[in-house]
Amino acid sequence: SYRKGGYHAVRIGDSFASGRFIAQRKLGWGQFSTVWLAYDTQTSKYVALKIQKSAPEFVQAALHEIEILSAIVENDPKNEKCVVQLVDHFKHRGPNGQHSCMVLEFLGDSILHLIRYNRYKGLNLIKVREICRCILTGLDYLHRELGIIHTDLKPENILLLSTINPSKDPIRSRPTPILERSEASLKGEVAVNAIEKKLKQRAKRAVAKIAAERRGAIGAVAKPDRCLDGIDFRCKIVDLGNACWANKPIAEEIQTRQYRAPEVILQSGYSFPVDMWSFACTAFELATGEMMFAPKPGQGFSEDEDHLALMMELLGKIPRKIAIGGLRSKDYFDRHGDLKRIRRLKYSSISRLLVDKFKFQETDAREFAEFLNPIFDFAPDKRPTAQQCLRHPWLHQAAAKTVA
Ligand code: ATP
Ligand code: MG
Ligand code: MG
Repeated sequence: SYRKGGYHAVRIGDSFASGRFIAQRKLGWGQFSTVWLAYDTQTSKYVALKIQKSAPEFVQAALHEIEILSAIVENDPKNEKCVVQLVDHFKHRGPNGQHSCMVLEFLGDSILHLIRYNRYKGLNLIKVREICRCILTGLDYLHRELGIIHTDLKPENILLLSTINPSKDPIRSRPTPILERSEASLKGEVAVNAIEKKLKQRAKRAVAKIAAERRGAIGAVAKPDRCLDGIDFRCKIVDLGNACWANKPIAEEIQTRQYRAPEVILQSGYSFPVDMWSFACTAFELATGEMMFAPKPGQGFSEDEDHLALMMELLGKIPRKIAIGGLRSKDYFDRHGDLKRIRRLKYSSISRLLVDKFKFQETDAREFAEFLNPIFDFAPDKRPTAQQCLRHPWLHQAAAKTVA
């Protein structure tokens, strides 16, 4: 991908925007871009520099993302809405072409990392509530104040706030001699933020523990996320590359498979409620460590059909009117509203699953299910809005319990 029209190759110490930003280390990458930790010499702060591939379709996509990000930052001057902020944007010419660059506020690890570091055990419900409150604050802002649908909400696209400066001693120029250079990149590597550090220690201990268990040294597994205690879990919604204005939806097929709403599969038209569906899938995953729906194609049925079957097994039958109301309904359902190729469903419920499989206490399971179930309504317009969810007692219970 590092060729004409593709990614721009960056070396540590490279400068951008006439020397204003200095690349420190790579933070991540995606289909469209590479993202770098950069030092802003004008404000003496760290930023995330997203450097888009240079082919025309990527330039176009960047323009769209910048338009959305600009609306987000313009209407949130106090930076309190839990959506990533755009600091600046510019173009950068390199050997592979002209690259759109977005300068974003620097954030920490994604909550997908959090789930992984926690060995897919699920976070405790106090933390789940904190994260849910942030995501809902962000969604309420996007939906109600801006009219934007995110369309790709998932744990990977929720980033924790970075708590400390990555390094007090930024790299200011490209270190040329090899020795100096490896030293400089080491510095960048060492400079992980506090949460990352704690999580990594935890992961290390967990690995050591598993090894010890395998040797038969220890019996029971320790409580999963004790070492995450005391960390304030604030986070922000990122990756607005697929976001759209609700009054001009772009794509037909939106959302990452596992977080996709039924109306998208059925093609019955979509709006803000698709984000609410993905939000509920994300909340479930945070609390259990496992994806809510992980459909697979099978013999005689497609991935879409498996997905619809899994939804019905957990949430109840899709009302006939909804099942047969989409452009693609005929591919999946007969005229009675029954799946054509998957006949026998094993019905359960969220609260039963939480107790039986994930060993939740009855009350915790019931209360969490009461929060999730209305969001998983098959009728999109019956789903509560982000604003309504924010008022749900389940989100405010934690504070009361902690104080008491
Ligand atoms: P995708 O294929 O997911 O659309 P993309 O090219 O649009 O990818 P992003 O998802 O925006 O790129 O960013 C890629 C990765 O860079 C993220 O998964 C994350 O690890 C990291 N990243 C993005 N923005 C930031 C930020 N503001 N602060 C820290 N890291 C970030
Ligand atoms: Mg992404
Ligand atoms: Mg993107």
